[in-house]
Amino acid sequence: MNVRPKSATFDLEQQWALVKSQLRSEYGDTAYKSWLASLVLEGLEGDRVRLSVPTRFLRDWIASHYADRIKVLWRRTNPLVDGVALTVAPSPSRPPKSGEVSPALSEDAITEIAPSASVAEVAPTAEVSGPLDPRCTFDSFVVGKPNELAFAAAKRVAELDRLPFNPLFIYGGVGLGKTHLMHAIAWEIQRRDPQRKVVYLSAEKFMYQFIRALRFKDTMSFKEMFRSVDVLMVDDVQFIGGKESTQEEFFHTFNALIDRGRQIVISSDRSPAELSGLEERIRSRLGWGLVVDIHPTTYELRLGILQSKAEAHAAHARVPDRVLEFLAHRITSNVRELEGALNRIVAQATLVGRAITLEMAQDVLQDLLRAHERRITIEEIQRKVAEHYGIKLTDMHSSRRARVVARPRQVAMYLAKQLTPRSLPEIGRRFGGRDHTTVMHAIKKIEELRAADSVMSEDIELLRRQLHG
Ligand code: ADP
Ligand code: MG
Repeated sequence: MNVRPKSATFDLEQQWALVKSQLRSEYGDTAYKSWLASLVLEGLEGDRVRLSVPTRFLRDWIASHYADRIKVLWRRTNPLVDGVALTVAPSPSRPPKSGEVSPALSEDAITEIAPSASVAEVAPTAEVSGPLDPRCTFDSFVVGKPNELAFAAAKRVAELDRLPFNPLFIYGGVGLGKTHLMHAIAWEIQRRDPQRKVVYLSAEKFMYQFIRALRFKDTMSFKEMFRSVDVLMVDDVQFIGGKESTQEEFFHTFNALIDRGRQIVISSDRSPAELSGLEERIRSRLGWGLVVDIHPTTYELRLGILQSKAEAHAAHARVPDRVLEFLAHRITSNVRELEGALNRIVAQATLVGRAITLEMAQDVLQDLLRAHERRITIEEIQRKVAEHYGIKLTDMHSSRRARVVARPRQVAMYLAKQLTPRSLPEIGRRFGGRDHTTVMHAIKKIEELRAADSVMSEDIELLRRQLHG
């Protein structure tokens, strides 16, 4: 039996640390602690990572709910890992040290453990394309007003051989479905024509590959490899900004592919115009094709997404409509959090055999809901206040000094300071680029008025209540 050299264990442990931190941020602290914190890294078995948990129940639960995700995340960190094996190890075992075989491993008489060299050296030549999440297809994507354009454009790109628009640039906030759509494009293209070479990767990985090629003095094969693809998809391109040599290489690759009539799909958290740290010619070229944005979700879309995700759980848990409506109403930030909330409720129900009710959902999601209550944005405040005083939203940013608009603006600044974690300079910027001293003055003014004027004090209370919703 092979025992891994020290470096392999170390590498694997680092990868595990990374995967764990990603799991934690994706599923939230509570779910993480309930389900995932007890996982122990046992080692590598062939190309499969072996993890253990203390009980069979946990093993089954993790296998059906998290194992796919763990695998995807792991493959992102190390493309050579091809699976995750879960075992039950009654007493929590510590990670094996070098030269030592953990009890779980010896019991199972694993004969093949990948030596570190194969992990480190094969990586550059292994497929560059990131793993695709099998759950992210067009079929599983729920379409609504905020994302219909992006969805239609993505479908077009995937369905046609001629290029409808090149590049397709998709942008939008975190967790709104950009990566989902890119994976869906890749799946669809592969399904239609397995011969077409589709490469999907994050901008970070693109940079990593390039820097690695530079280090190994192997930029030729890097270039050839990228330039031979039919479809290149680069996710989260905002991360390319700043690094000049990578930008340059990206730009050349990009131009070469476009010139050859190959499809490019880019995603970013902001529009091409807002991509700071990117050279002007690159920025403008990125916007040459079709630029579509995914808007924040609406209540209807959130409900639709929840209904479709709840259906997937239907076999082991029924989630009443009222609970779905409640979630759609309260968790508005992004789809990832929405999914996480639903998963937590279902997990709880399945684990303790508790029926899913509104009370139960509120109970299970206490921390999440509280965090959401606090997340009021300056935009919302401006909108509410403008509405309340019957002025235009644009007056919040305008330089008009007439009291009818100046006073409500001050109220909004005051509430922004009270209800959001934003600093004075930030608040000033969001009110038409005003100075922080102006904000300070506004806050002082409104505090005075509140104390002296009961109408003002009632206005503030009312607005505050409405904003807390
Ligand atoms: P982004 O890349 O924009 O940050 P993701 O594509 O990773 O967001 O989406 C976050 C999660 O929400 C994923 O699990 C994804 O499948 C899901 N999701 C986002 N939008 C939708 C949608 N319209 N229908 C179904 N699932 C969605
Ligand atoms: Mg993404």
